[in-house]
Amino acid sequence: MGDINSVGVIGAGQMGSGIAHVCALGGREVKLHDQNAERLKAALADIEKNMARQVAKGLITEADAKAALSRIAATVNLAEIGQADLVIEAATENEEVKKAIFQALTPSLKATTLLASNTSSISITRLAASTDRPERFIGLHFMNPAPVMKLVEIIRGIATTPATYETVKVFAESLGKVTTDAEDYPAFIVNRILVPMINEAIYALYEGVGDVRSIDNSLKLGANHPMGPLELGDFMGLDVVLAIMNVLHDGMSDTKYRPCPLLVKYVEAGWLGRKTGRGFYDYSGPTPEPTR
Ligand code: NAD
Repeated sequence: MGDINSVGVIGAGQMGSGIAHVCALGGREVKLHDQNAERLKAALADIEKNMARQVAKGLITEADAKAALSRIAATVNLAEIGQADLVIEAATENEEVKKAIFQALTPSLKATTLLASNTSSISITRLAASTDRPERFIGLHFMNPAPVMKLVEIIRGIATTPATYETVKVFAESLGKVTTDAEDYPAFIVNRILVPMINEAIYALYEGVGDVRSIDNSLKLGANHPMGPLELGDFMGLDVVLAIMNVLHDGMSDTKYRPCPLLVKYVEAGWLGRKTGRGFYDYSGPTPEPTR
């Protein structure tokens, strides 16, 4: 299987823009697609700002950033993505949305294109079955923020070939990432462990075991976590946290994964965390303030 020289990224939210950033710095031509033109504009501005931060920290040179930015093109036209060597889907964590994207993309794909999903929890085997090439389909799970976090979790679906796996593993490593392999079970490894912990922290808040600060400080200072679980939930997006809990609950048929009603209420209120300015913290002022 050939090298990956060009990458199509679908979804220009926090993950899609981070993945585009990493791939462009890794020397690949990147086409970034979102159905929302405003989101695409904001994503390009975010990428530029984040690269400038890396330059200021001395992690990359100004010339690296300039060259990488020139390798990223944005498009609202999904069909333009199909000619890339690898397409990484990073749209909303919803199985129907992702399947519809892959179905719409399939007619414009070149024969050799590899497909990957950045899903946090959804079955790679089921997503692969909505395409014409399950043997060339794989889970490539970047962490948030993608330019900073070292890990990429690789998940093979039942039909993924060894050649597809080897090609994407070499590709991820060429971006400076370390990979781990996870089997295709709900939420894989990282989120199987992490997200129920966040959900449990929300239960602790819901039941009055502690307030927002007590819960986050307990895990930061008592377990050496760099972020408290509520802060982390706000950072990931509470809609993403809820979507992953629902996948775990449905996929494992086990009540231990039931989403906390308070998490459901926050998502219903549109309080999704940092990205909407309010979650378990209010982000409108200079420092985040607990909302409970
Ligand atoms: P997000 O809400 O920030 O972005 C999702 C983007 O997808 C939006 O810009 C939206 O306009 C776009 N989109 C939705 N439907 C689309 C369609 N039909 N066609 C094109 N674009 C469409 O979400 P995110 O946090 O970036 O998550 C994206 C994916 O990455 C999800 O699968 C999520 O589970 C996964 N992920 C998230 C995190 C995290 O911490 N947030 C970490 C790792 C992986």
